[in-house]
Amino acid sequence: MYRDTQLFIDGRWTDAKGKETLPVHSPATGEVIGQVAHARIADLDLALEAAERGQAVWRRTPARDRAAIIRRAGVLMRERAEAIGRLMTMEQGKILVEAIGEVERTADTNEWLAGEAVRIYSRGIPSRAENVTQVALREPIGIVAAFTPWNFPVNQLARKAAAALAAGCAMIAKGPEETPASCAALVQAYADAGLPPGVLNLVYGTPAEISEYLIPHPLVRKVSFTGSTVVGKHLAALAGRHMKLTTMELGGHAPVLVFGDVDVEATARIISGAKYRNAGQTCITATRLLIERPIYEPFVEAFTKAAKAVKVGSGLDPSSQMGPVANPRRLDAMERLVADAVDKGARLTTGGRRIGNSGNFFEPTVLADIPLEAAAMNEEPFGPLALIRPFDTLDEATTEANRLPYGLAAYAFTTSPTTAQKVSRQVQSGMLSVNHFGLGLAETPFGGIKDSGYGSEGGSEAIEPYLQTRFVTMADL
Ligand code: NAD
Repeated sequence: MYRDTQLFIDGRWTDAKGKETLPVHSPATGEVIGQVAHARIADLDLALEAAERGQAVWRRTPARDRAAIIRRAGVLMRERAEAIGRLMTMEQGKILVEAIGEVERTADTNEWLAGEAVRIYSRGIPSRAENVTQVALREPIGIVAAFTPWNFPVNQLARKAAAALAAGCAMIAKGPEETPASCAALVQAYADAGLPPGVLNLVYGTPAEISEYLIPHPLVRKVSFTGSTVVGKHLAALAGRHMKLTTMELGGHAPVLVFGDVDVEATARIISGAKYRNAGQTCITATRLLIERPIYEPFVEAFTKAAKAVKVGSGLDPSSQMGPVANPRRLDAMERLVADAVDKGARLTTGGRRIGNSGNFFEPTVLADIPLEAAAMNEEPFGPLALIRPFDTLDEATTEANRLPYGLAAYAFTTSPTTAQKVSRQVQSGMLSVNHFGLGLAETPFGGIKDSGYGSEGGSEAIEPYLQTRFVTMADL
């Protein structure tokens, strides 16, 4: 049922010129389930040539026609959600219902950005002389190099591709080598929807080799990356040296401030649901749970109970609530972070161990009383670890929330409007959600500040990074 993935260049699926491939592993069993084509420079050159031709066609394509194609791709994704979700579960590990949900969200993203394509407004500027016309033109920036990760293989590409295509840009995307097939299914949907050849090209290979070649290349005008902060800084520096604009959607370490006025059991259940979604491999996941002292122990107890109740198993088993982590690197990281936290004095209330000997299964884990010096409190855990600490005052909680260089998502739970207002003013994050996990909708801005990056991948802001402004002034002779 799982299929090998080729490169998509100039509207055709093709092997890499050198016929090289990389194995794709099942996170649930560790077995090789397929192969993905490995592009080298000769393949990238073909993709660049195709994108140049595609760009010439696409920028002349009327916005309404672009919108129709993007919208149709969204409809196809919705129709194919079950089949594509299955591919995603096989290669990424997340439970099927989450995988299908991700594909459906991709349809939303396409529908939303198709609408934005016809709302790109240039503007006339009143002139100082009667015979002069002045216009600020909003135009596609040109060919985009996009780099997308494995945690949301379809949605991460959809956010970039739909926005770039809506703006009139061609794209070369480097998809995630570990989860290539579901990402390729999105590209197929665009092709089936009528996207002209060369407008969207998909490659896989060695990430550093591809970025080092594409980013400086004169045909590429824009870089969009989702992944870790350390890689993002490296790519932003490379892009800066070559005067390329970038969008950076990087790591997070979301604080969750829980105040003493909430229903402890219900709040613990809501937060645990968000925490263990996608086995915690979500940039906006709930990471540092900061709990007001009077409810601290009851919260730890309720959260531990909720974590223990999460049923871990293969993502294809309908009774599973959490699948394996996506790759052995995450498994190693979980073992290292738990050992370090316990060593430094954290109280392990549940989990902390790998499950079984095959596949990348790890227990939903709770580390209470975790000291600030623990590595997990400073680096993005990106896995099923919940880190819990008490606080006494709102200022103490917001100071801790702002301690790290990250600034992606933050959450607060309180029944007091005044507390919610204060938190919204004090917490430095690109997104804040109070009393629910309400982030990541197609129509709302999505992005970080500080070391979590810049540029938005949602809402009407999403199209901006793919546009440039040119000023034209004309006088009658
Ligand atoms: P990693 O830092 O090696 O890679 C992260 C992503 O960047 C991958 O998609 C990878 O292909 C890409 N990448 C790495 N080096 C690159 C280069 N030189 N040029 C272009 N792309 C490059 O780490 P990983 O083990 O794959 O993931 C772990 C960490 O990455 C996590 O701890 C998390 O911080 C971060 N991450 C964040 C997101 C997100 O949604 N923001 C998604 C996936 C991973």
